[in-house]
Amino acid sequence: MLLQCNATLAWRCPLCGELELNQISIFDFSGKNRLEIKCGCGYTKLVFGKSSSKKYWLEYICVVCESTHRVSLTQGEFWANRVKKIKCLDNGAELGYLGPYDDVKRLADQEEEYLKLMIDKLEFEDYFNNPEIMLSVLNELHDIAEANGLVCQCGSSDIDIDMLPREIRLTCNRCHGVTRISAETKEDLAFLRKIKQIKILEGVVSALEGINL
Ligand SMILES: [Zn+2]
Ligand SMILES: [Zn+2]
Ligand SMILES: [Zn+2]
Repeated sequence: MLLQCNATLAWRCPLCGELELNQISIFDFSGKNRLEIKCGCGYTKLVFGKSSSKKYWLEYICVVCESTHRVSLTQGEFWANRVKKIKCLDNGAELGYLGPYDDVKRLADQEEEYLKLMIDKLEFEDYFNNPEIMLSVLNELHDIAEANGLVCQCGSSDIDIDMLPREIRLTCNRCHGVTRISAETKEDLAFLRKIKQIKILEGVVSALEGINL
């Protein structure tokens, strides 16, 4: 086993939520047996310790079960050239990584990516009454706009598109005419699919009906 003299920790701060990488070196333990890892926000997010020359430990407040966990590693494991996944001792959820920089960085990037996707997805699904229909309606609208079918009675084609939970709102930037398009049901979608042109009525608020065609 190749023994490195440094390692990288990827750990999400339980206080501010930042996932930061911290480099530690075997020399950080010279003359002391405790090493506090601070987040950029100042919070001590994890503590490393050395209980003897052959044993290290990590102590952290677990964001999953909200208790404090302590994990022991032998000196060999601690500095080994492979990634250690640090978990919740209660349910096994992965909380962070310790190991060679490249591997830890890659895992941290993946996790950030995944988290971002999940949040986007949740926000999207939470916001709309029927997210699938909303997406399809947007798609249709995009096709209509591409074929220059999105216009206003006033002659402008400078149209704003706003998404609301149950409808899409088209606003003419010149005359402030508004057309609302329901985006909730299959019928809404079927109706839009038959339409080649949407004409916003000048200066008034209306719903998408035969009159707008
Ligand atoms: Zn922080
Ligand atoms: Zn836990
Ligand atoms: Zn207009």
